[in-house]
Amino acid sequence: MGKIIACVNQKGGVGKTTVTINLGIGLARAGKRVLLIDFDPQGSLTDCLGFPEPDTMEDTIAQILMNRINDVEMDKAYGILKHPEGVDVLPANIELSGLEVSLVNVMCRELVLKGYLEQVKADYDYIVIDCMPSLGLLTVNVLAAAGSVMIPIKAEKPSIRGLQQLLRTIGKVRKSMNPDLGIEGIVPNMVSRTNYARDVVARLTEAYGGPLKIFESIPQSVRMAETAAAGKSIFLHEAKGRAAQVYESLIREVLADEG
Ligand code: ATP
Ligand code: MG
Repeated sequence: MGKIIACVNQKGGVGKTTVTINLGIGLARAGKRVLLIDFDPQGSLTDCLGFPEPDTMEDTIAQILMNRINDVEMDKAYGILKHPEGVDVLPANIELSGLEVSLVNVMCRELVLKGYLEQVKADYDYIVIDCMPSLGLLTVNVLAAAGSVMIPIKAEKPSIRGLQQLLRTIGKVRKSMNPDLGIEGIVPNMVSRTNYARDVVARLTEAYGGPLKIFESIPQSVRMAETAAAGKSIFLHEAKGRAAQVYESLIREVLADEG
């Protein structure tokens, strides 16, 4: 069926890319067909998965969407890379900011990504999209196309404030173009063993734990931070560690949601 999950938070450095990678690879390890899409001009997902020199790549998600805008025919597999851990990957780089500028004058500019995903959706069980840290037109394209959003947050006060703004944006997108957009849940990430971090998670749960699912906290871990440079998931990098266990439970919950 192809469930589309967007990893979103307009705040930078909260773990969107890390969650996209480990959620996606975890789903693939559970036997699912998975496509990961880098939708950030920083190209971090592409980079963290170990693909060399994202900025010199030509066949990226930006090119795919540009081709669609210009009615250029493409093969269905165009741009799709294979990662050794069993996921397909659509890379991105700085070209995506150029696309954002071009989109402004395009008809139905919020729906360009959705149009493309409708073509490839049938080939996957899950499509997980790594958003950039902004709620601009590119992220709105993702929200318009997604079935649900996964919200990684860092356990600190300002993240909680940003959450309200994000939830308002999700509300607007539901009203105007994607009434079925769901919220998978909030993933507290980089949660240290300090009382402060625990307190923030407790307050988050108190404020949002009713309407929203709060997933188990992903611990702050050096091994987790190392995965980006290693180009692999936590399941390969430190299979028996606490972080891998928490990711496994996150994946079980996402799979249980399938119904
Ligand atoms: P951006 O907004 O720039 O796209 P992001 O929200 O995608 O950032 P990441 O790049 O996933 O965030 O993570 C930010 C940094 O924190 C990275 O260096 C990553 O390796 C590190 N990191 C992510 N999760 C953890 C963790 N649980 N423990 C320690 N470090 C982590
Ligand atoms: Mg990122």
